[in-house]
Amino acid sequence: MILHADLLDDASLLEADVCVIGGGPVGLMLALRLIEAGQRVLLVESGEDWDDARCQDLNVGSSEGLWAGNLRDIRLRRLGGTMHAWGGNSRPLDPEDLVVRPWMARSGWPIGWEELLPHLRAAHDALDLGPWCYAPAEPALWPDPDFEEILFRLSPDLPGPTAAYRGEFAALHRVTLDRATGLTVLLGATVRHLPRSPNGLAVVAAEAMTFRGKALRLRARGYVLACGGIEAPRLLLASGITGGTGDAAVGACFMEHPHGLAGLLLAPRQIPLRPFSPGLLDAGVAVQHRWRLRPEVQAREALLNLSFQLVAAEMLPSEDDKYAAAFAALEATVPDPAGWRRYYVTFLSEQEPRPESCVTLGPGTDFFGMPQARLVWRLSARDGCTVQRATRLLARGIFGGSGFRFHDRVPDSLEAWPIGWGAHHMGTTRMGEDPAHAVLDRDARVHGLENLFVAGSSVFPTAGMANPMLTALALALRLGDHLADRLPGMAMVPEPAGPSRRAWA
Ligand SMILES: Cc1cc2nc3c(=O)[nH]c(=O)nc-3n(C[C@H](O)[C@H](O)[C@H](O)COP(=O)(O)OP(=O)(O)OC[C@H]3O[C@@H](n4cnc5c(N)ncnc54)[C@H](O)[C@@H]3O)c2cc1C
Repeated sequence: MILHADLLDDASLLEADVCVIGGGPVGLMLALRLIEAGQRVLLVESGEDWDDARCQDLNVGSSEGLWAGNLRDIRLRRLGGTMHAWGGNSRPLDPEDLVVRPWMARSGWPIGWEELLPHLRAAHDALDLGPWCYAPAEPALWPDPDFEEILFRLSPDLPGPTAAYRGEFAALHRVTLDRATGLTVLLGATVRHLPRSPNGLAVVAAEAMTFRGKALRLRARGYVLACGGIEAPRLLLASGITGGTGDAAVGACFMEHPHGLAGLLLAPRQIPLRPFSPGLLDAGVAVQHRWRLRPEVQAREALLNLSFQLVAAEMLPSEDDKYAAAFAALEATVPDPAGWRRYYVTFLSEQEPRPESCVTLGPGTDFFGMPQARLVWRLSARDGCTVQRATRLLARGIFGGSGFRFHDRVPDSLEAWPIGWGAHHMGTTRMGEDPAHAVLDRDARVHGLENLFVAGSSVFPTAGMANPMLTALALALRLGDHLADRLPGMAMVPEPAGPSRRAWA
């Protein structure tokens, strides 16, 4: 049932097995898995079923360091979440992203690739990505010891009257959300506090408010934050759940996927761009080819994961492209031999997890009195070094001795370069076995709290270079299975005695 919270009485109490906070793709995928497993689910969504300026205003926050986009607008507060705006680019994290890399502080996931794989495949199918294939079948155009060719796949637009954009789950699963037994989707209810039991070891409720001033109390055996990589730490911090110190602090280790222009390639003839153009089809699904730094080269050179793409100059930049100035500057300095073709080389990189890149609470408050988020995005020397060194390897390897001219444009400090962001908000509630270095355990449960879990890309301990949606959905499915196993043995934590509350049926 989809229900608007303003239709409920003030001070209503709602109960379920699991309370999922956030109706974006991750929250929806988790809720669907839980009801499949017979759990009663209350999914609480702050937004409406449409774009609403007042709801978007709840996302307002402040930023410092590198520009990662306007916080108000880079997440969507509505049923379906930011999936209404996403690009559909999909690829799982690479297996070696999950292992400990001795040259990278805080690397290593508490779960391995093999354990994640069945969930990745299920998420891949949910995004309608065609065959499970992330490497091109045809031989590499330019075989190279340092780079391998890889594929990204594009989640397709849905045909039909829903006209849903790239697998937008709220539209895709509308009938289930509205009619499934055991599921209540509550719209227009913003969770702003998670009170804890007197011993501090469990959450006893999620307190939500509506714009009409209705206060709601949501009770469950388990609570899952699925409200995105900035709102999850914000809600935890606003509830006084701060985690440990350093990398174990809630909000620490914020990671994005820095991307930008690596250089301009001049070729005396047209390059057969087939393996490098977006829009190419593999079994009906559009794919995009890239060159990825091989894992053994990452290890040899102590670098992070990174990939490059070659784009015909006429396809970039558009008038409003955020790199327009960088492209223009590059164009102005590079000679234009008659008849030669021009190609841009762009990079997409992993960033190292470091506590000083973080989400904290800012001084302002939103409509409901909740402190706003403050985002500090910072890159490290290793982040810069990865892009510079990989670009040089590309220049020497694939582009060296080819008769091409490659004009490398990566400066010494990445912070001096127009760095793009992807609205990929990762790492702010990282998973790890050791509570001294992680906010969550291997089951995405908040260390020290028996019934509070987090779903979404904020749980990633490291970011890899692939877009996060597919892996975030896989982790949500894994969490769904875990909760379905664990909940039958979990009791609802009693509330401390207080004024009696009216039950809602
Ligand atoms: C322009 C753009 C393009 C992108 N392209 C890609 C791409 O190509 N590939 C890719 O993998 N990723 C892409 N992303 C990122 C991707 O969209 C996000 O990673 C994904 O949407 C995260 O899903 P989520 O469910 O965790 O969070 P969201 O989609 O942000 O959903 C969170 C939900 O929680 C709700 N919520 C928040 N706070 C509360 C609260 N306190 N109480 C109740 N509800 C709350 C929100 O209203 C929202 O509905 C893109 C993002 C943008 C902006």
